[in-house]
Parts: sequence; C-alpha cells; structure tokens
Amino acid sequence: MGHFNIAIDGPAGAGKSTIAKLAASKLGFVYIDTGAMYRAMALHFLRLGIKAEDERAVAEACRDVDITIRYEDGAQQVILNGENVSGLIRTEAVGNMASASSGYISVREKLVKLQKQLAKRENVVMDGRDIGTCVLPDAPVKIYLTASVKVRAMRRYKELQEKGKASSLNVIEQDIEDRDYRDMHREHSPLKQAEDAILVDSSQMTVDEVANAIINLARERGLGD
Ligand code: C5P
Repeated sequence: MGHFNIAIDGPAGAGKSTIAKLAASKLGFVYIDTGAMYRAMALHFLRLGIKAEDERAVAEACRDVDITIRYEDGAQQVILNGENVSGLIRTEAVGNMASASSGYISVREKLVKLQKQLAKRENVVMDGRDIGTCVLPDAPVKIYLTASVKVRAMRRYKELQEKGKASSLNVIEQDIEDRDYRDMHREHSPLKQAEDAILVDSSQMTVDEVANAIINLARERGLGD
C-alpha cells in the first residue's frame, strides 16, 4: 500500500515550513523539512572549512557524512554524524552555504534518496524545492507556494526583529532575490513548479487559509476514501 503524500515547493520565505507543519498536524501526517537536511549538510561543509565553489571537496565530504531524521515530541530533529544539530542550522551563514552547495549532484543524490525512504514509511507533508518534480513525482497533492519578494522580505524582517536581531529590509530583500535566482537557475533540480502542481500565492492569505486549502485539496484527491 502506498502512502498519501503531499509535496510543497516554493522559494525561500513563502511560508512553506509554517504551512506544511500546520497542515501535517491537522491531518496527523509527519512533516518533513528537506531544507533542514541541506542545512545540516552545509553545516558539515562549513565545519570542514570547505568553500562552496570547491565541488570536489564537497563531493568528498558527502561520501562519509551521515544525516538522519528523528522525531522528538512530533518535532523533526536533524542528526549530523550522530549529533543533533537542529539548533545550529538556522543562521544566515548556513542558509547561504545550503543554497550554494545544494546545486551539486553529490549533495542532492544523497539527500533525495533519504527523503524518498522517509516518504515510503508513512503519510508525509514534505516541503522543499524539488519535492513535486523529483522526490515525490507521484504525490497526489502538489502545491507550489509563493509570495511576492516584498511580502517574503517583510515576514523575514519581522521574524528577525522578534528574535531581537537587527537587520535591514533592503539587505533581506536582496538576499531573497539572490537565493531565488540560485535556486531557480541551477543545473540540477532547479526550483520550478511541477506541471501538475497547484500554484498558491500566499501574499494575501493567512496561514490557516493556506493550510485549509491544502487539506481540502487532499480530500478532493482521495484522502480518507
Ligand atoms: O528551505 P530552506 O531555506 O531551509 O533551504 C535551504 C536551502 O536548501 C535552499 O536555499 C535550497 O537551495 C536548498 N534546498 C534544496 N532542495 C530542497 C530543499 C532545500 O535545494 N528540497
């Protein structure tokens, strides 16, 4: 028996993780944050002092790295070579390294394999950049979630402010544009809307509205029959 999987893709800051997490909890599905895996891998490269441009060193470092996912009280924990690094991967430095190194085939092959295994075990809501196109091409529900650059920058700005971190809206906007460009123009598995994905623009929608739209779609597509 296959499982009912939901794929959510989209650019940085569109609200994927918030929405995927909420939809998963409402449905009793497991939420899988694939970005966290690219971030854990990036942390590994940073610790080894590897430069993002050095594809050979990245490929070599991929060979003996072990990334696994564990759940504690329903929250995903990312384990890098036995160490829980969940609290260390949300920095700008790690995010930028993740964005730069995720273009390499060595990195993608390793993580996509792991993601496919996770989705085989149970019903999942998985978010990322290539879930609908590569990781779960047969998922009955695929969402391409986006929002304008301005809205995404403002959300990120508020998030940082809440954490007491000073930042400039202009810098954040530029960062988002750069990351979008890299994610959409890389050679391997670029970010793009799958042909059968539904486009949702969250600029003017609340988190609940988007999550409910996804749940309704899942029911229309046979969930619970
Ligand atoms: O979503 P998040 O910002 O945590 O992802 C970090 C980086 O990992 C992204 O900028 C993207 O380049 C990469 N990524 C990816 N494929 C995924 C998830 C994330 O290439 N499925």
